Amino acid sequence: MSGWVVVAGLGPGAEDLVTPEVRAALAQATDIVGYIPYVARIAPREGLTLHASDNRVELERAHHALQMAAQGKRVVIVSSGDPGVFAMASALFERLEEIPEFAHIDIRILPGITAMLAAAARVGAPLGHDFCAINLSDNLKPFDLVEHRLRHGARGDFAMAFYNPRSKSRPHQFARVLEVLREECEPTRLIVFARAVSTPEEMVTVVTLDQATPEMADMRTVVIVGNSTTRRVGAWVYTPRSAPDGGATS
Ligand code: SAH
Repeated sequence: MSGWVVVAGLGPGAEDLVTPEVRAALAQATDIVGYIPYVARIAPREGLTLHASDNRVELERAHHALQMAAQGKRVVIVSSGDPGVFAMASALFERLEEIPEFAHIDIRILPGITAMLAAAARVGAPLGHDFCAINLSDNLKPFDLVEHRLRHGARGDFAMAFYNPRSKSRPHQFARVLEVLREECEPTRLIVFARAVSTPEEMVTVVTLDQATPEMADMRTVVIVGNSTTRRVGAWVYTPRSAPDGGATS
């Protein structure tokens, strides 16, 4: 029997948001590989081995998955949200690039609903015009680069989604992010703090930039900053699809 590796997105949390394609791959798998909280979402069954590992070991995890597939196993690497968004799909290809013996392995990437889209849908349509997504973690890049991209995103008047906004190991960086936003954007700019979207712990708050505090974000939060036209209509937040003429900033 020939093995394969699927990199699957489990969506933001709710079972209803796992795609049928991902469910089918999980049902055929012999082995599940992933970060502990994501593997915990998979129901144990006979014939299925769960391999949960800590974070920051993405390349080892990818290697392990490829090795098992080479031995004929059917392996699903699980990510939360979408596997291509700050997640395991890139780690798999990084390892594949390093080890040519794995080149023949059957690989499929199955998309999932990424956190910013689940969060955007909760409040309305804050990403309805041009937007970008920035991972605020400096695990894999210097914080200077985070700050640079953030400033240019704001100057380009993109709506922005921030992943990994704040952790215990780097509590001050999100305060710095808010400082940069205050330098670049007006105080009434709308910001959405969406925590644990589609789980029982979900909490979604919309504030203006002058009301935002670093404590409003943690590692389970995705933050969406509107562009200069993002506004409220009733209880909703949306960004119009069009930009005014001459809307380009510096
Ligand atoms: N691949 C994932 C992102 C992994 S990075 C995806 O596509 O969603 C982890 C970050 O994703 C968290 O720090 C948080 O910013 C965001 N995140 C993941 N699940 C979330 C959820 N249910 N609600 C809000 N943010 C979430």
